[in-house]
Formats: sequence, C-alpha cells, structure tokens
Amino acid sequence: MSIAENIQSIRERMARAAEAAGRDPREILLVGASKMNDAAACRAAVAAGIDALGENRVQEMTAKLAEDAYTGAPLHFIGHLQRNKVRQVVGKVDLIQSVGSMELLSEIDKQAEKLGIVQDILLEVNIGGEESKSGFPPEEMYESAEKARTFPHVRVRGLMTIPPIEEEPHGNLHYFAKVAQLYVDISRNLYDNSFVYLSMGMSDDFEDAIAAGATMVRVGSAIFGHRQYQQ
Ligand SMILES: *Cc1c(COP(=O)(O)O)cnc(C)c1O
Repeated sequence: MSIAENIQSIRERMARAAEAAGRDPREILLVGASKMNDAAACRAAVAAGIDALGENRVQEMTAKLAEDAYTGAPLHFIGHLQRNKVRQVVGKVDLIQSVGSMELLSEIDKQAEKLGIVQDILLEVNIGGEESKSGFPPEEMYESAEKARTFPHVRVRGLMTIPPIEEEPHGNLHYFAKVAQLYVDISRNLYDNSFVYLSMGMSDDFEDAIAAGATMVRVGSAIFGHRQYQQ
C-alpha cells in the first residue's frame, strides 16, 4: 500500500468513527507523524492531502526543513522538547503540541517575543501519570492552563495527550474521555470557548480517541509503515 492509499483508508476509518459518534468528520484533522521517514515520504503525504505533519526530533526536523519536506502542509512539533532547543523550533512550526511544563512554556514565550510573534501551542497532559512521560499532571491542568494565559507571546489552542501503552483493546478510552472533559472545561471556563485542537489518538487507537472527542489524531506507522529503529 502506498502512503496515499494508507491516508485514504485512514480517512475512511476516521469518517466512520466520527459518524458512529454523531460527529462531523470534517472537524477532525489527520496529522502524519513522520519521524524516521525521509523528505520524499513527507512530500508524498502532503501530495495526498495530509492536514499537517508532526515531527519529534529537532535535528531531524531541521534537516528535513532544509529539504523542503513539508512545503504545502502545516508543520507541528509533537515530541519532547528540551529547553535548549526551543530556539530551533519557535517560529519554524505552526503548532508546538507538546508543551508539558511551565518552564518550557516560559522559554517558548521568551523566544517568540524575541521574534516578535505569537506561537501557537497545545498543553500536554500526562494523563497516565507516568514517570517516563512529560506533560502536566491532570490534577494541575486547570491551574496550569490558567497560568498559561498570562504569557503574551504564546497562544494556547487546546490540549494534547499520549496515554500509556494499551494493555487491552479500548484500554485508553477512559483516559481519552478524561482529557476530553478537561478540554471542554478549560476551554469554556478559561479560554472563552476558543480551544480548537484536542490532539489524541495514534495508529492503534485513533478511533477510540475520535469517539471520545479528539479533533486531531496523530498517525505514524499506519501511514508510513513500521519504523526501522535499528538504523
Ligand atoms: C510517533 C508518534 C505518533 C504516531 O505513532 P504511531 O503509533 O506510529 O501512529 C503520535 N504521537 C507522537 C507524539 C509520536 O511520537
């Protein structure tokens, strides 16, 4: 199956999941998680109408930017971002999805101010409370979102989450539902209903995420094939 065929088939599955949930399929964006795939693969996804591409590693993204890998689609940063690499990302991407601490948010704000821009971001929720993952603890999410409003060069557009690895089918549905509830509450009470992106769901569970209310899914291997980690 080609990248274009994979995207087509994922779009069909997204539409069915949306309809089953009584939602309009057009309100859900497909982000291609293109880590470890080359510029040609990214271009193929853009040509096939992907809504955005998401990268995890700054160095890889910078190299692929120089190859015009993303021209024609918005670019998102979706990986763990170290503070010392913020400079290489702010202003280069349309959305930083993975902002999981106040320190990182503050650094992004500082860099955006230097550039004279406002950087769109999502706040990342560590919904499973996992040590190994970044993100705000769910119980601090509301307070953190309130504080995030005070940074003038950052615009919070919604929430993002990466739940724990699923132990059983539909095992993450309850996490997705919790994040969806936070998204609705925070948008309504703190952001004047201005949130647009609830980013959750990957190759193995995007249909469950859509059932719970995702407006953006991040799909890698189901579009690009399995990643070769031993390279
Ligand atoms: C790789 C990645 C994805 C996509 O994962 P797949 O299981 O390959 O679909 C989604 N989100 C993030 C943050 C990722 O790093």
